[in-house]
Amino acid sequence: MTETLFDKIINKDIPADIIYEDEKSIVIKDINPQAPIHLLIIPKKTIPMLSSADEEDKEILGHLMLVAVKVSKILKLDNTFNIIINNGANAGQTVFHLHLHLLSGKSLSWLPA
Ligand code: 5GP
Repeated sequence: MTETLFDKIINKDIPADIIYEDEKSIVIKDINPQAPIHLLIIPKKTIPMLSSADEEDKEILGHLMLVAVKVSKILKLDNTFNIIINNGANAGQTVFHLHLHLLSGKSLSWLPA
């Protein structure tokens, strides 16, 4: 599989503002933030998109959710944030390495425009 942009960030081949890292995931600031806090929660395993995850990815998918909560507590987000996953090019996905967007500090209308 070709290396994704996020693989390069995980491998520290290209720089990023890293907020949190553990053996299975990394959390970075989005380069083009859409809210005062805009983080990307990225698995170290290269899963191209949510719909390519399978049964064996159950644990990592749960882990990413719990990392979101952990980081929200570290940043004192007061239990106020949105998690978004864009799945597929027609849904706005541009980097084909699964990631959760964590946005906070701005009230998003539902659904976001
Ligand atoms: P997607 O559109 O795939 O859901 O989200 C990809 C996100 O990655 C976008 O919000 C975009 O701003 C962010 N992004 C793209 N290139 C870089 C980069 O080189 N560094 C960082 N930190 N974020 C990036």
